[in-house]
Amino acid sequence: RIGTAALAVQVVGSNWPKPHYTLLVTGLCRFQILQLLKEKPYPIAEVEQLDRLEQFTNGSKSEEELGELSEQFYKYAVQLVEMLDMSVPAVAKLRRLLDNLPREALPDIVTSIIRTTNQEKLQILDAVRLEERFKMTIPLLVRQIEGLKLLQKTRKPKQDDDKRVVAIRPNRRISHGNITEDEEEEEDHDDVVMLEKKIRTSSMSEQALKVCLKEIKRLKKMPQSMPEYALTRNYLELMVELPWNKSTKDRLEIRAARIVLDNDHYAMEKLKKRVLEYLAVRQLKNNLKGPILCFVGPPGVGKTSVGRSIAKTLGREFHRIALGGVCDQSDIRGHRRTYVGSMPGRIINGLKTVGVNNPVFLLDEVDKLAKSLQGDPAAALLEVLDPEQNHSFTDHYLNVAFDLSQVLFIATANTTATIPPALLDRMEVIQVPGYTQEEKIEIAHRHLIPKQLEQHGLTPQQIQIPQVTTLGIITRYTREAGVRALDRKLGAICRAVAVKVAEGQHKEAKPDRAEVGEGEDCKEHITEDAKAESISDTADLALPPEMPILIDFHALKDILGPPMYDMEVSERLNQPGVAIGLAWTPLGGEIMFVEASRMDGDGQLTLTGQLGDVMKESAHLAISWLRSNAKRFQLTNASGSFDLLDNTDIHLHFPAGAVTKDGPSAGVTIVTCLASLFSGRLVCSDVAMTGEITLRGLVLPVGGIKDKVLAAHRAGLKRIIIPQRNEKDLEEIAVHVRQDLTFVLAGCLDEVLNAAFDGGFAVKARREHLNSKL
Ligand code: ADP
Repeated sequence: RIGTAALAVQVVGSNWPKPHYTLLVTGLCRFQILQLLKEKPYPIAEVEQLDRLEQFTNGSKSEEELGELSEQFYKYAVQLVEMLDMSVPAVAKLRRLLDNLPREALPDIVTSIIRTTNQEKLQILDAVRLEERFKMTIPLLVRQIEGLKLLQKTRKPKQDDDKRVVAIRPNRRISHGNITEDEEEEEDHDDVVMLEKKIRTSSMSEQALKVCLKEIKRLKKMPQSMPEYALTRNYLELMVELPWNKSTKDRLEIRAARIVLDNDHYAMEKLKKRVLEYLAVRQLKNNLKGPILCFVGPPGVGKTSVGRSIAKTLGREFHRIALGGVCDQSDIRGHRRTYVGSMPGRIINGLKTVGVNNPVFLLDEVDKLAKSLQGDPAAALLEVLDPEQNHSFTDHYLNVAFDLSQVLFIATANTTATIPPALLDRMEVIQVPGYTQEEKIEIAHRHLIPKQLEQHGLTPQQIQIPQVTTLGIITRYTREAGVRALDRKLGAICRAVAVKVAEGQHKEAKPDRAEVGEGEDCKEHITEDAKAESISDTADLALPPEMPILIDFHALKDILGPPMYDMEVSERLNQPGVAIGLAWTPLGGEIMFVEASRMDGDGQLTLTGQLGDVMKESAHLAISWLRSNAKRFQLTNASGSFDLLDNTDIHLHFPAGAVTKDGPSAGVTIVTCLASLFSGRLVCSDVAMTGEITLRGLVLPVGGIKDKVLAAHRAGLKRIIIPQRNEKDLEEIAVHVRQDLTFVLAGCLDEVLNAAFDGGFAVKARREHLNSKL
């Protein structure tokens, strides 16, 4: 509670780059706080002045002793100053001061000049009694003199060095017997010395060390108020913090890795197999300049969480770098330090965060990098990901090379289509397709439900979700390739149940511990009671709950509302001119209802649904093929003419009009849809199709068959027409899905049409019905 009263003489400061003020004060005297009157906005207190200097001059009983002490102190002080180089003006001035100043002011002044720690200085300030102050300062003085003697002995010839030992700054102001000193500056000076020490002891590369030492030299000469001071200091601090040589030890054991991967993730066999291969090679060869793995698949299929598991199996730190929407190459490679607000890129920042040089970096959403005027971030990533180059990755901010070769990079993407080819070339793509319903049920029961229960503080004794209910959620409330929406729906159910459980606790708990969420034992008490009662009719959540709360279809409807998706697709196919196509999107496969209508007109074709050029061409191709084959199939327009476009306009629409679509695979669907329109026959309601067409009526293979088949399966379709040359892709599809479906492998459009219409499409007299080959 002792402080120093001071007079503010000058305030200098700036707000940029960060608020920084220098306060010049003249110390007046010590004071003691008697009573704190107010704390805010700044403290106001009643104080008492402490070091009344008359105490020394008044003839008190300890005067003699004090006189002795002060004499002794004066002698030491003179001895110290005389050891210094008197030719320096500041030293000469100090010598004169020693004679001119009153003796009682000496301890305070000398303590501020000699090398002492902040702690010691504070102790001197705290020493109110002069005698005590003299006694405390003398040992410090002696220490300084001894230190100086030692130095002089070891470095005799270099007299100049002594100046540095006693930190006398020429610009220090001395007025009225007290020294005004910027404590903070002193501290900062100490910090800079510490920083230098850290730089010297850190294990940075030689090149980096050279740069750092140069910078710290500059920093020492720079006034603190200069904006560059803060920049340089930040830079040096970053350099010290970077893990130049610090790494975690890999604990890699393939058997354990397999167990971790299996425990964390259900299914994904292909992915796990490849990851294990990768890890096995790493185990055999330590510094693998291996490929960068890139997991490509729809959202919510576990790409990110596999990355996390890999880090876990290796015992490495994990860091995720979200690249979605990054459009500035400085985001990757940092800004040059000349720019205002410059900072390192995400790679270097990530390394600083994890603190080791061999983490697992997950580059999330590499397909969503954008280009802008600020350069192409994908190009900057090339250097990061190239094993041949990344041992000397140079961030613009650091401006020295950092070795990234120990970092394990894993990338994720929804599609490879938008990844720049050069970047794709450096990565090994592993497709992660969507899940089947059965896999989703297993994932839900093994992973998602336990996780949600834990997050909501529920136990299996309080809630039961049978498998049929999970299937209901999957088919009626979600339509996705991954499991993220499913996870959310399960979360919603848990929340609803948590309310009921908490309400039940509230009602039954005794008044003194009726707090919801507290009272673990009272929860147990209810559970036990409830178990003893019958568990019948637990579905209606409006009634007080009886544990465990069983989630059945009624409960589902109560919690999640009416089903969002209908399994029944047949009513959409109850008029001619509609067919179901299969589309691949970055979000997984989807079924797509293609609609066509005709009207009087002059042969125009209208296409709606935001189609790309390829899709528009497919539509033209389809019409041309049908026109050229109209006679063969007995297709006529409204006026009975075989020229289908005679006085007729055609409108083709692809739903989900807000989403841009492109690609050749809708060809067969357009043909089927138009064939249905012109023949007036209905397309079978359980058939979906995909395939590219040519003008001669051949069906060419397309991509994404697995996702498309899963989408059709999800939608409850039974028969799928795919190009013959895609037969090999069927092997990747799980057996139980294949068993549920009939595949028609079509080599030409006749086969497609025959399979799409009940009883075949070809005019019987001319062509035989071609059966499917499966
Ligand atoms: P992505 O990165 O592919 O978009 P995430 O990795 O974020 O998806 O996964 C979303 C959620 O689904 C995570 O909570 C994850 O644990 C879970 N999940 C996905 N696939 C599986 C699986 N096969 N087994 C267990 N959990 C899974």
